[in-house]
Amino acid sequence: MGKARQKIVIAGGGIGGLSAAMGLAGKGFQVTVLEQSEQFGEVGAGIQIGPNAFHAMDYLGVGDSCRAKAVYIDKLIMMDGLTGDEVAHIDVNEPFRARFGNPYAVIHRADLHGVFLDACRANADVTLITRQRAVRYETSASGARVITEKGDVFEGDAVIGADGVRSKIREQLTGGDELKLSGHVAYRAVLGIDEMPEDLRWNAATLWAGPKCHMVHYPLQGWKTFNLVATFVTDISNVGTNEPGTREEVLERFGHIVPRARKLLEVPKSWRRWVLGDREPIENWIDGRVVLLGDAAHPTHQYFAQGACMAMEDSVMLAHQLEVHGGDFAKAFAAYQKARIVRAYRVVLSSRMIGRHLYHAEGVERLIRNSIMGAKTQQQFYDGLAWLYGGNGLTEVAA
Ligand SMILES: Cc1cc2nc3c(=O)[nH]c(=O)nc-3n(C[C@H](O)[C@H](O)[C@H](O)COP(=O)(O)OP(=O)(O)OC[C@H]3O[C@@H](n4cnc5c(N)ncnc54)[C@H](O)[C@@H]3O)c2cc1C
Repeated sequence: MGKARQKIVIAGGGIGGLSAAMGLAGKGFQVTVLEQSEQFGEVGAGIQIGPNAFHAMDYLGVGDSCRAKAVYIDKLIMMDGLTGDEVAHIDVNEPFRARFGNPYAVIHRADLHGVFLDACRANADVTLITRQRAVRYETSASGARVITEKGDVFEGDAVIGADGVRSKIREQLTGGDELKLSGHVAYRAVLGIDEMPEDLRWNAATLWAGPKCHMVHYPLQGWKTFNLVATFVTDISNVGTNEPGTREEVLERFGHIVPRARKLLEVPKSWRRWVLGDREPIENWIDGRVVLLGDAAHPTHQYFAQGACMAMEDSVMLAHQLEVHGGDFAKAFAAYQKARIVRAYRVVLSSRMIGRHLYHAEGVERLIRNSIMGAKTQQQFYDGLAWLYGGNGLTEVAA
């Protein structure tokens, strides 16, 4: 157990920051979470969560609350956006759940974040503070502190940088590694169930893969809504978050996609767009009593649907190592980083490859994709995913 009076300050109250707060409070630490926004929350969109995330959430004490709000899909389907034919699917029904010990699910982001928020609010060892934007940190032999934009100082025995892809903590820790353009933009919308074409109301996370673009849809909120994400290669030159997007731009970029899928993109009355940022993997997440977690450490393209899952796993590992090392931050942070770096960056680099070679494939590459993916058995898919879905980040699973 951590020494009861040890305090940890977390910059960022997303899924990473709040899951870390739950993990650390569970080991006896007093935790303060600083969030820059007016209130804690998440964007109005869906998120996919693999079995590994449920394993992590069980460790963090929120698994059942999340299970109560999730939608349990039967399949992950890849469709060829040029022909409208199915390329392949992965069954995520009983045999999948039996193999990996938990379901594959989809959930509204506000519900997932809300599960952690409720748990933090109910925990006397977690203090949640809004409207505090971390701008820098200081670390010494005996502690660390966060200094915010308002000039306030939050003292702790250690600091966690969970402030996302634009992390100020990472910026200082690395000496300013560059936030790059990923070259991809994601448009998001949530449709009422009545707006969803009946012939596409599938109990699946469905991905239509087209050259240089793809779209994803799945049911949400007890089948009251459908999540829709349209992603394409872009030359927009500024990273942007939750900006208004235009229907014309989406329709133009999906002009080559089969009408059955493309007509879905005509439904949303409004779109929000994310011009996605990216960072290169780094080998060090630690500066004395300060450590990075979640997207601040390893931002990823969304193509493996694992960024938030990895943030939750980070929280499990960090809490576990602090327990193992009795609150010795130097030892615990080193062990956390060692245990997480390969797995988290395997997701990051695999996601880049999946986007390039599977989801956005064109020409002969598309034909090869269809041939390879279409020939795989369910067993082969499961074996290939065992390294990812089988554990909660504490234990690696033999593939
Ligand atoms: C289109 C899209 C689809 C995705 N789909 C999936 C999916 O299906 N499954 C999945 O697992 N992941 C998915 N992801 C990835 C996932 O959203 C992220 O990996 C996850 O949200 C990271 O959580 P985080 O808490 O580390 O960072 P964030 O979610 O970015 O949270 C950071 C928090 O810190 C706050 N903050 C930022 N800077 C400061 C500061 N200086 N001081 C104080 N507070 C600050 C922010 O306001 C925010 O609340 C997707 C991402 C995108 C873009």
